[in-house]
Amino acid sequence: MIATVNALMDECGTKCPYKISKKLGIRIKNLDLPESIRGLYVVSNAKKYILLNKRIDSHIDKCVVLAHELGHAVLHGNCVIQANGNWQQEGNKEYQASLFAAHLLAGGKELPCSIKREIKRCSRNPNRTHNLLVRLSFSCC
Ligand SMILES: [Zn+2]
Repeated sequence: MIATVNALMDECGTKCPYKISKKLGIRIKNLDLPESIRGLYVVSNAKKYILLNKRIDSHIDKCVVLAHELGHAVLHGNCVIQANGNWQQEGNKEYQASLFAAHLLAGGKELPCSIKREIKRCSRNPNRTHNLLVRLSFSCC
């Protein structure tokens, strides 16, 4: 996972999830989504989108959601839709996307095992995962 994140950061020359999304041709849209959904990765007519809930107003929260959805785009790109709300069925994919986000937000550094374990533990709880990733994001753009 860390190799994937570092290769992507090298390729794009940045760790900023906004800039990486742009480089990968993923359009970011702020939309009026249901309260329970922070973000979605969607492929429609061969175009890639990350939809962000427009209720999210802090930059750091947006970066965290974007980094997670970027994880879905990079790791699970063939799937048509990935919903943050669907954590029961998609637990493992959610864990992978959150681990990707954590590595990216940490600037490609290796994460302590305790953090990885906590991400795994939280993977079915979107709110706890989000808060955990926010705590990891001090050095975000
Ligand atoms: Zn997700």
